[in-house]
Amino acid sequence: MDKDRELSKLKNTMLKFNKNFPGKNLVFSDGNKDAKVMIVGEAPGRTEDKLQKPFVGRAGKLLDCLLESIHLNRSKVYITNVVNFRPDKNRKPSVKEINLFKKFLFRHINIIKPNIILLLGATAAEAVLKHVGPLSKIRGKLKNIKIIQKNFNVLVTFHPAFLLRQSFQQRFFLKDLKILKKKITNR
Ligand code: URA
Repeated sequence: MDKDRELSKLKNTMLKFNKNFPGKNLVFSDGNKDAKVMIVGEAPGRTEDKLQKPFVGRAGKLLDCLLESIHLNRSKVYITNVVNFRPDKNRKPSVKEINLFKKFLFRHINIIKPNIILLLGATAAEAVLKHVGPLSKIRGKLKNIKIIQKNFNVLVTFHPAFLLRQSFQQRFFLKDLKILKKKITNR
């Protein structure tokens, strides 16, 4: 099956879970399905739900701007979230929601087959790497892990919403982007 068909099959499966998120839209992905870089956030916010695209609100604008520093944009990356519907009242996704959507994320990763996965923030790090505890312990360290049947390079960094609150941490994000750039250009 080709990527487009696999993605549309996955999207249709996820759509069936809209009853768990009444009145919310599925926010599946944005960007280039053939990109070397796959970016994974937490869950859509209000703007993302409205426009049905991940990272299009304030945090998304900051993400685009930071990606630009290594000459990446949405034509060169693929973006999704751990949970693909907006949790009500702007809360963090629950453990139950994360566990439910994690298996779809893993399928999603195996369809896209990126060279590297960039995990933004604690929810993505916990879902993919089972990491609990301070993010600073694992951020900026390249890992290689098996997801379903294939091995993937994974890098954890801060979530851009956190960087909006603590802008001095942006330098760490930029440092992590340099590690990512090196990996995709094999330099
Ligand atoms: N925060 C996320 O984690 N994902 C989005 O799509 C938007 C904000």
